[in-house]
Amino acid sequence: MKAPKDADARRSAEPVICYPSDTLYRPPLEMYRQARSRATELERIIVPPREARCFYVTAGSFFRITCNEGAQVGDLNLFEARNLDERFYSGKTRALHGSHISIGDRLWSCLPYLRPMATVLEDSLAWYGVDEDGGRVHDVIGTRCDPYTRHLLTGQDYHHSCHSNLTRALAEQLDKPLSEAEALVHDVLNAFMCTGFTRDTGQYFMKASPARKGDHIEFFAEIDLLCALSACPGGDCGQEHSSDKPACHPLEVTVHAPPAGSLDGWYSPSHNRYSRRHAPD
Ligand SMILES: [Zn+2]
Repeated sequence: MKAPKDADARRSAEPVICYPSDTLYRPPLEMYRQARSRATELERIIVPPREARCFYVTAGSFFRITCNEGAQVGDLNLFEARNLDERFYSGKTRALHGSHISIGDRLWSCLPYLRPMATVLEDSLAWYGVDEDGGRVHDVIGTRCDPYTRHLLTGQDYHHSCHSNLTRALAEQLDKPLSEAEALVHDVLNAFMCTGFTRDTGQYFMKASPARKGDHIEFFAEIDLLCALSACPGGDCGQEHSSDKPACHPLEVTVHAPPAGSLDGWYSPSHNRYSRRHAPD
């Protein structure tokens, strides 16, 4: 297709940030940190390699995901603990904060709720920034590895993709059949995953996670949460996912609660206040 004469002029339009975030409420990170410094550990969960586990976190508590043995990508789903229709919305999180998240960014819930579910309080990989390939860590681009795409591309069945791991874990936690649990699984936060887009073809790429043993990302729960976390079969996602070939590690989750009174002045956010009329009067 021949480009028009004014192609260069058309291409030189100034980019405009779709969702300027300067009007967004800033989370009180210092208050969260103070509360965290006095918190006690409530629970420790080990997510085995190529499996997923569920856990609950009360609003005002903290949860930390740690690569306790080595580099391991973790696929995280979040739900409001009593209303499973309210779930993590990776697309809008990406639109608000960018393709990867770090300290101070929030994980937002789907429409019509659209409120912060969790805030990133600590990220031991925050130093990584952006590498020469355009790669960054803690991705909200990718969806989750799943057996349907795997079958589409290879004709083979694989049952330990994150989609299936999350399905099994939710079925067990909620005592639901697999078919019902599967409908709850949604696009994830890919914790520790290093990704970007190739410059020439714009294709989604992954590269070995820079995480090492002990690296972690920690969240403050803004609302009561049911969380499901899968230790991706891709391991550090440096070669491939959706197979048993890559070396895989467990992930450790710890939940921490601060003493009463440490969050005075903080309120769990309410649902989005849009009127929902969808039409002018
Ligand atoms: Zn995965």
